[in-house]
Amino acid sequence: MNRSESPIDNDVQAEDKVVEPNLRPKKLDSYFGQQLVKDELMIGIQAAKKRNESIDHLLFHGPPGLGKTTLAMIVAEEMGVSIRVTSGPAIERAGDLASILTNLQKDDILFIDEIHRLPLTVEEVLYPAMEDFSVDIVLGKGPKAREVRLKINKFTLIGATTKFSLVSQPLRDRFGSTHRLEFYQTKDLEKIISQSANALECVISKKGITEIAKRSRGTARVANRILRRVRDYATVEANGEIDDKIANQALERMQIDDYGLDQMDRHLLKSLVSDFNGGPVGLDTLAAAISEDSETIMDVYEPYLLKLGFMLRTPKGRVASEKAFRHLGYKYNKQTENTNKSHQASLLEDEI
Ligand code: ADP
Repeated sequence: MNRSESPIDNDVQAEDKVVEPNLRPKKLDSYFGQQLVKDELMIGIQAAKKRNESIDHLLFHGPPGLGKTTLAMIVAEEMGVSIRVTSGPAIERAGDLASILTNLQKDDILFIDEIHRLPLTVEEVLYPAMEDFSVDIVLGKGPKAREVRLKINKFTLIGATTKFSLVSQPLRDRFGSTHRLEFYQTKDLEKIISQSANALECVISKKGITEIAKRSRGTARVANRILRRVRDYATVEANGEIDDKIANQALERMQIDDYGLDQMDRHLLKSLVSDFNGGPVGLDTLAAAISEDSETIMDVYEPYLLKLGFMLRTPKGRVASEKAFRHLGYKYNKQTENTNKSHQASLLEDEI
């Protein structure tokens, strides 16, 4: 079983890179949901504009596909400045970052995706840059080498991460504000799907939109991707127009159920329920049982399963909830119930 081709895979797929730029809203008022974050950003943007200054450094965190990159681009658009986009793993050496920083124009935005993956030596270059808008560079080599401090233009750093807990404290402390993006509610996903359908010139009924929204696991990227797949299905199997019946048929063919779970989610839950009697089971053991790596389980499957209440993270390992047993058609026995209850009581307040 391979998740990478599934429409609900959270990672960016090759096709997304081509299509997503056309679907990205350009302004805050066409960016739906995430009201709290939007309200705070709007104040920050307006205040910065009034003072004729750049906006404070911002850190966005939350699962993939919720709109962190889009939001960074919107901030640039709303501020009327340029944005330079890069990512933690792409900056390997301190010199690479120093060269990016020294080339930024006044008030530019530097967006670093997956900022938790910056090597420490690179991260250290960011500290004086964020605080004093200066970069320390080493001139010459060997005993004659000397460090000089260069002034750079004032800029705004926007960092994004799916793993907030892996962003070091010194780096976190240097952001003016930190914003957590939440899974979308169905009504917001409906607006996102409707806007994307317009951009794709695709005819879709209200009920068709709702059917897709309900099964998009609270994630904008997944909603857009399912919309594209359903549109293909409608083109081949019907007259190209999407209603709830066509959406339903297409989603069934993709094996995405009413909760937005796909084969891999069900495979994982089934293993937890039947191989481990509902748990608790360690992450690595579970990963080995379904031939998946632990990190993918943590980043891709778990956040949504936890949100739905199908899975619980406990100090002793992962546990399937009664809801998961019932969803998969398994009987929930008393013994499992007791185990789960005692673990629910000590549920970890972990960062998802
Ligand atoms: P992330 O950086 O969090 O992985 P992206 O910003 O790349 O997510 O968003 C993925 C896709 O979802 C993009 O095509 C974007 O246009 C769309 N999207 C995300 N959030 C919203 C939103 N709030 N309103 C409309 N479209 C959105």
